[in-house]
Amino acid sequence: MDELRHLLRRAADHAADYRLSLPDRPVGVPVDQTALTEAFAVPLPDAPTPPEQVLAELVAAAEPGLVATAGPRYFGFVVGGASPAATAADMLAVGWDQLAFNAVTSPAAVAAETAAGTWLKDLLGIPATASVGFVTGAQAANTAGLAAARHQVLADAGWDVERRGLIGAPTVRVYAGAERHATIDRSLRLLGLGTDALHAVPTGPQGAVDPDALAAALRDAGPGPTIVCLQAGNVNTGACDDLRRACDLVHRYGGWAHVDGAFGLWAAASPATRHLVDGLENADSWACDGHKWLNLPYDSAFAFCARPDAHAAAMSLAAAYLVGSGGVPAGADLTAESSRRARGFAVWAALRELGRDGVAALVERCCALARRFADGLAEAGFEVVNDVVLNQVLVGFGDDARTDRVVAAAQADGTCWVGGTTWRGRRLMRISVSNATTTEADVDRSVAAIARLAR
Ligand SMILES: *Cc1c(COP(=O)(O)O)cnc(C)c1O
Repeated sequence: MDELRHLLRRAADHAADYRLSLPDRPVGVPVDQTALTEAFAVPLPDAPTPPEQVLAELVAAAEPGLVATAGPRYFGFVVGGASPAATAADMLAVGWDQLAFNAVTSPAAVAAETAAGTWLKDLLGIPATASVGFVTGAQAANTAGLAAARHQVLADAGWDVERRGLIGAPTVRVYAGAERHATIDRSLRLLGLGTDALHAVPTGPQGAVDPDALAAALRDAGPGPTIVCLQAGNVNTGACDDLRRACDLVHRYGGWAHVDGAFGLWAAASPATRHLVDGLENADSWACDGHKWLNLPYDSAFAFCARPDAHAAAMSLAAAYLVGSGGVPAGADLTAESSRRARGFAVWAALRELGRDGVAALVERCCALARRFADGLAEAGFEVVNDVVLNQVLVGFGDDARTDRVVAAAQADGTCWVGGTTWRGRRLMRISVSNATTTEADVDRSVAAIARLAR
């Protein structure tokens, strides 16, 4: 047993050494993928290898290919870090090897999910009666939310989709903003609704759904099973749909309002940004990531549903009336997985570490740093294209080719990592500030590097 203790300590030491190196490490510089693959692609051994040696070989093979996404100057996609307590808790979850299937396989895992779910709803302003599924990402959360939606709008039309499927079912109409996230389309494919069911609603200047266009689309379509996918946090601009008005409209037509709030829903956790998601409590389901802005380790996200019965009817292992054997859906009844890892420990630990004020401060700090980024690059003479209302910044450096060159040069430089995107037909640099450890000095250093490379 001492060997196991030694092995786990070494693994923890490796992780700690790596994490402590992040502030000084080059960020995301290009690597030789072939050499990396070759380092792993040793012939499959016939005989067992001592675990100590396996760990040493793994560290040696992986180190050159690790990307400092958890570090303070990674601004790509909407990647968050991993807070200390959450990281430690996740290491415990693996060490405990708990099966978060239900309260029989792990009473502790279910209790942690229950408590963390209550805290999350409180922080985000989601009704306390909503169900919460702990899933892998906003992709899975969108799928769970839209599965519940599919259940309910078809049940309202007298059709039991869980039993009868979609063949011969009433047509379900789905509306989503023209700038929805690609995961919405995949969820619709997985759910058998298909992307042809999707009607794109025009968006306003910042990428939020135009409520008048949504009103017109719903009015013209008339009655019938209707699902509307709204968005809190456009991946390019950070813009949020007018959730209050949109939910009112959807409900006036008897539809289901789902909110993809992968990162933008966190605007609700600070009084400074809460107005951006005003009315979110009126939606029927919500998808939110933990591994982005809450700085949880991968993979962690939440599927909330205002109708726990619809949530369980769509997702539970057994028929809705058998759920939870005590009437309380839990764990595997609210997600697409059966055996699942115990994600609730890390969520609980992160929220316990930060507290309500800490979560608000995290959101506010990232927004302030995004503005600092935008101001710094604007002062250096570059074009900030979006209203920086949240943690996203879009920057143009002249024509598309020049912008692409600046993005590529920044990625090769290694001071920071920023992504490229196409928005409204233009190539742009996309900057997302989502890491709890990013400082003003990190932003200033990154602005200086980007400005130098652009010149
Ligand atoms: C990131 C993101 C998703 C997908 O989230 P995953 O965690 O990668 O599954 C969906 N919607 C929006 C708005 C996002 O930003």
